Amino acid sequence: MKLLIVEDETRAAAYLSQGLSEHGYTVELAHTGPDGLHAAATGDHDLVILDVMLPGVDGFAVLSALRTSKQTPVLMLTARGRTDDKVKGFELGADDYLVKPFEFPELLARVRALLKRGNRSPEVEDLRIGDLEIDPVKHRALRAGQRIDLSAKEFALLVLLVRKTGQVLSRTQIASMVWDINFDSDTNVVEVAIRRLRAKVDDPFEEKLIHTVRGVGYVLERRA
Ligand code: CA
Repeated sequence: MKLLIVEDETRAAAYLSQGLSEHGYTVELAHTGPDGLHAAATGDHDLVILDVMLPGVDGFAVLSALRTSKQTPVLMLTARGRTDDKVKGFELGADDYLVKPFEFPELLARVRALLKRGNRSPEVEDLRIGDLEIDPVKHRALRAGQRIDLSAKEFALLVLLVRKTGQVLSRTQIASMVWDINFDSDTNVVEVAIRRLRAKVDDPFEEKLIHTVRGVGYVLERRA
């Protein structure tokens, strides 16, 4: 398992690198935004740990540029814990977010969860509803035969909704199932993710599959 850490604070980077190496990961380090982006875009990492405050180009810009070509899972790391920063990170396609200061075991747990999600053993599963088809093994979603380009998180969200077709899921349920954590009041990350998903899965098509159940949550089903 190959990880890329993009962090300008040398001590923090060394600490993370050492801790993760001790747990069996191969770690590559980058200390600036441009170096990090180059390494992430050209390398074959299983996960990128990306600091927000970086010299040159900040972590948000690195993530946004990376997402134009790659869906490598990204764990954002930042001293800023404001909700709008978190939402911004998720909007740009981050898969998880950790606020500094944090304890190493928490980082390790999140790294493991993200890597596990990316390497789920292949399941033979036929996930289709209407003209929407999902292939969880190939990590591919098609609507009306057209490939839909989704981030890892959007894909996970769509798979969840399709698996639970016709079942209303609350924001909290979605947050805990897709992000493996409880967001409590911070469930607007779910709204943001749903909005992004709709823009790709529903907006270009006549039949809408994702529906809001006011005051409860969301459901994916055919209503035509
Ligand atoms: Ca930094």
